[in-house]
Amino acid sequence: MKRKIIAAALAGMLIFTGCSAEYSVNGTAGGSAGDSSKSSDMAAKDADPMADQAFDRVIYDAMTVPYMSLRAYGQHAEDALIAGEVEIRRLDDLLSTGKSGSDTAKINANGGGVLTPDTAYLTEVSLDLHDSTGGAFDISVYPLMELWGFTSQFEDEAGNTGTVRREAPAEKDIADILTRVDASKIEYDADKGSVVLPDQMRIDFGGIAKGYTSQCIADIFRSNGVTSALIDLGGNIQTVGGKPDGSPWKVALNDRNRGTFLGVVQVKDMAVISSGGYERNFTASDGKVYHHIIDPATGYPADNGFSVDASVSIICSDGTMADGLSTSLYVMGPEKAIEYWRAHSDEFDFVLMTDDDKMYVSEGIEDCFSSDTYKYEIVRR
Ligand code: ADP
Ligand code: MG
Repeated sequence: MKRKIIAAALAGMLIFTGCSAEYSVNGTAGGSAGDSSKSSDMAAKDADPMADQAFDRVIYDAMTVPYMSLRAYGQHAEDALIAGEVEIRRLDDLLSTGKSGSDTAKINANGGGVLTPDTAYLTEVSLDLHDSTGGAFDISVYPLMELWGFTSQFEDEAGNTGTVRREAPAEKDIADILTRVDASKIEYDADKGSVVLPDQMRIDFGGIAKGYTSQCIADIFRSNGVTSALIDLGGNIQTVGGKPDGSPWKVALNDRNRGTFLGVVQVKDMAVISSGGYERNFTASDGKVYHHIIDPATGYPADNGFSVDASVSIICSDGTMADGLSTSLYVMGPEKAIEYWRAHSDEFDFVLMTDDDKMYVSEGIEDCFSSDTYKYEIVRR
């Protein structure tokens, strides 16, 4: 609940990205929405007499956990918010591995099939990312997620079911499953929009689905005529335009649930999406902590400089990419992540925090990022 307390303390000033381990695995509550300060822009007011009026919608999941909160401004906001909620539910039904009628569940059950346009797009993006990240992003890690107990289907050797495992799986079991993890073996036919999975492979879009959802909502908002909005999906933030007065949104980056911020990034029309080992993890009886971002090279939680106490935030105009990259760079660790950014510096920016408190900020956001809490190094192209 720390995030809420901080959000309340900063009421009306900041929005928040990054998640809290204290929330359910299905989703986490969003932070407070941004400032609805009065617009002095008469031209904008002429165009929309309600330009600075805020409308909010909080969406709850089945367990009545606040799951996503949407805020939009102006005369089109109310309709857009309803359309946004419909979209969230549609995508959840389509992508949740746990829902038997979902596209993902059907692909997994049948070893492939013809995809709906959303899933086809996500497959394409995921396979491209797998390629460009040298395998760090891999949608076929799903059976490993199950083995590690980070899915609702988890059942341990003693027959206990639940969402959190208490001990690391046996090395042999990890090695066994790892032989079936390799997204390059997925056959995707772009013309037919169909996939074939190798025997026993199963996939999950968990590393990219939330960012895609917020991207779809941003697109729906824009096509409804909304020019100022905030989409907060469990700490994954996507902004439409700036604040109603035209100034940028201020997004605070959660400092690994320590009750402080890594810093604040000021953005317009951007997604700000974070991954962190602190978000979901368990402590084994030997005291070792295991988190939910799996390195497909080892089958173990990523441990290349970003492990349980690190965070990777991606700032990108495209929410899907922001989400996929936050997971990918986490797996890579700081050195490879920086190398990757240098090769793609026109596509996104980052704020990296390592387990040992070294913070790196990419050059592209030098002028819109600030931190009162940490000293950081600007990474140049
Ligand atoms: P969040 O849980 O906040 O969405 P991430 O965006 O970092 O966090 O995604 C983590 C999720 O991505 C995991 O719960 C799992 O479903 C999936 N995942 C874990 N490791 C990988 C990986 N190497 N490649 C792709 N997806 C992954
Ligand atoms: Mg991600």
